[in-house]
Amino acid sequence: MADVQYDVVVVGGGPAGSTIAGLLAKQGRRVFLMERESFPRYHIGESLVTGMIPVMEELGVVEELEKRFRPKSGINLVWGKDPQPWRSDFSATGGLYDHSWHVRRDEFDKLLLDNARRLGVEVVEQAQVTEVLQDADGRVTGVAYTHAGGAHTAHGRFVVDASGQSRTLTRKLTGITWQEDLRNLAIWGYTEKYTPQEFPDDILVEAIESGGWMWGIPLADDKLSVGYVLPVEQLAELTRQGRTQQEVFAEGLASSRIAKTMVDVATVGELRTTRDWSHICDAFHGPGWVAVGDSAAFIDPLFSSGVWLGTSGAWLAARALDAALENPAEERQALERFDATYRQLYHDILAYVRYFMDPNRLREEYMERARAIGQTYIENSAVGFIALISGIKSLPEVVSFDPMGETGLAEVMERRARMVADAKEAAARQKAGESPDREPETAEV
Ligand SMILES: Cc1cc2nc3c(=O)[nH]c(=O)nc-3n(C[C@H](O)[C@H](O)[C@H](O)COP(=O)(O)OP(=O)(O)OC[C@H]3O[C@@H](n4cnc5c(N)ncnc54)[C@H](O)[C@@H]3O)c2cc1C
Repeated sequence: MADVQYDVVVVGGGPAGSTIAGLLAKQGRRVFLMERESFPRYHIGESLVTGMIPVMEELGVVEELEKRFRPKSGINLVWGKDPQPWRSDFSATGGLYDHSWHVRRDEFDKLLLDNARRLGVEVVEQAQVTEVLQDADGRVTGVAYTHAGGAHTAHGRFVVDASGQSRTLTRKLTGITWQEDLRNLAIWGYTEKYTPQEFPDDILVEAIESGGWMWGIPLADDKLSVGYVLPVEQLAELTRQGRTQQEVFAEGLASSRIAKTMVDVATVGELRTTRDWSHICDAFHGPGWVAVGDSAAFIDPLFSSGVWLGTSGAWLAARALDAALENPAEERQALERFDATYRQLYHDILAYVRYFMDPNRLREEYMERARAIGQTYIENSAVGFIALISGIKSLPEVVSFDPMGETGLAEVMERRARMVADAKEAAARQKAGESPDREPETAEV
């Protein structure tokens, strides 16, 4: 493969990588994307929220999503002091989006990657990026990768890290804060036979009394994804007591109230596990590079926010890179604005996940905190809850993002620095055994 100079080279073809690559190609930019695997490939992260629909509209894939995937109407929660399940419906936010989808990620991710190709991205699969190339000043100028048994390089004016949990660039280029209190592990599997809930298109999210929580994601009438998320220490303790992961999963399910009425554990196929440890990088950009998706930041899947967060970050970054390519003198301005806006999305959801993780509060308290975080948008706390967790609350900031905005650079940088410091402080409080949770300050828009 010949070495070529691209506008942008993208590492990773998951939802974040395909989205930023597709949007930039749509703007006429020359984009090259390397994906390690051959698609379709398995991935976890199957339940989507409505906040990601506008960027899917930009990509032109909504019709396909409607055709291929089961609608998701809302969330059914078994959580908090009140023993009754309670549901929250996307349609409560008003507007256009009354449902999203439950997706088989192999098919969803392939759809987005093929769409990026359709929009003009040069995509190479089974291409693993092995090295970041930098000039004498430290500016990122490209990557080295292996493909078809050979070693290659790709050069771009910008490189995007969209390599998910591999963090191919961010691992080398920036620091990271791990959220110690959200150091979890997930165990999950699939069953072809299950009893649907009263609202069959909802995701089920159920707190487990002994610790952790379970999900039930109805991918199809004959396919339910069922998972158990629990703290790493809890699993370690159970393992010390001699339990296998199968037994831990079975005990979690047996002690649920609703999940166990849907699934017979004997019908759940092979179990999978993965680390599920929330983190955020100190920088989402530097000279010549940006990071989007899990390589930038990851939040516990409690509210299914991963794909929304990653594709929203990709949408913000695409506009910032487009502006920086157009006007290189403004690169710093554009990338700082992207970073601060993207970081705020993470911050709001993280703050809420933390609050919500305490399963001993009243439903009204959960609602009220959600309203407080999204206060500029919503008066009604029940609407505030679904608006926050669906990403709809943040939509105005994402849609109207202007990388050349009017706020001064110093102010934007200060805001970002404050959020980085807050994340580190919360992690330190947690390490010291204190609660990392704090009352939300006045929400910034
Ligand atoms: C247990 C669990 C449950 C979850 N549930 C949900 C959910 O219900 N809803 C939701 O929205 N999110 C969920 N998530 C989060 C979601 O999976 C991620 O946030 C999402 O996949 C991030 O997309 P991404 O494009 O950043 O990364 P990925 O989807 O991981 O894509 C990264 C791609 O980069 C490729 N890659 C990696 N390294 C290299 C390299 N060196 N060279 C080339 N290619 C490379 C990989 O092969 C991969 O295809 C869940 C996560 C976990 C752990």
